[in-house]
Amino acid sequence: AIPLVVAISTAVSAQNGLLIRNRTAFEESRKITTLLFDKTGTLTTGVFGVARYESINKAIKKEEMFRLAGALEQNSEHPIAVGIINKLKELKVSIPNAEKFNAITGKGVEARVEGKQVKVVSPGYLKEKNWEMPEGSVSSEAETVVFVIVDEKITGYIALSDAIRPESREAIKTFKDNNIKTFMATGDNERVAKAVASELGLDGYFAEVLPHNKVEIVKDLQGKGEFVAMTGDGVNDAPALAQANVGIAVGSGTDIAAETADIVLVNSNPKDIANLILFGKATYNKMI
Ligand code: ADP
Ligand code: MG
Repeated sequence: AIPLVVAISTAVSAQNGLLIRNRTAFEESRKITTLLFDKTGTLTTGVFGVARYESINKAIKKEEMFRLAGALEQNSEHPIAVGIINKLKELKVSIPNAEKFNAITGKGVEARVEGKQVKVVSPGYLKEKNWEMPEGSVSSEAETVVFVIVDEKITGYIALSDAIRPESREAIKTFKDNNIKTFMATGDNERVAKAVASELGLDGYFAEVLPHNKVEIVKDLQGKGEFVAMTGDGVNDAPALAQANVGIAVGSGTDIAAETADIVLVNSNPKDIANLILFGKATYNKMI
């Protein structure tokens, strides 16, 4: 049966934005009972607009803080970084150079700018340090918020917004119709996670997740008897993609994620996963 499976999976891949790297992945996909999605760029468009930014440090004006953040973000490809850089370009602000740039995996970025040590980080990073969120950073809106740290002090925050992908709604409906549970794990804050999860009608979500938490989440679901497929895009997602029964790397992701994954979702479109599962079920039902 293997040549047939290979032929089918090749056909599925070619037409449907999927790259099946592991021969058994197509066969395994019909056994999926739970899908664990990442948020940014998979369930949402991943196109961030800057909504607002504020400094809480009297010595550093908000414009200055935003410029410092830009110095770091010009070295990052994260959707948040792209949103910040686009806003600075729109404002025609010149962005200073950053030295010793480093990506803090799954948490943010850091570098030296004009003699200062600057970081732009996630809410999870603050939580880990037991630092309080600056006043005003949590709004009633479901905004993604990152924090600017200058010389180890919280200097302010940048709030951004992203939109749910229209295809996500259709995909989630298909999963529900097929009794497949859907969850989301994100490094983003509780408010955004809750808004996206309730908007899409997910079975649950995990917010402010740090890289090492993802493997635990997959293991917990497996411990409850679930056959878990997970999507991910970052280097930090690789261990969890390996732990999942079916690991799915999303399109724009890193090579490391793609190397670990069983399937690459070329267009990051959740509907392509729904089609894969349905096609897998139909194919094997016919064969038996
Ligand atoms: P997600 O896909 O859920 O955004 P990531 O692992 O890509 O997860 O990032 C986790 C969190 O780390 C982000 O939600 C964000 O808060 C922070 N982060 C990562 N990279 C950057 C960056 N370049 N600039 C600002 N924040 C970042
Ligand atoms: Mg990500």
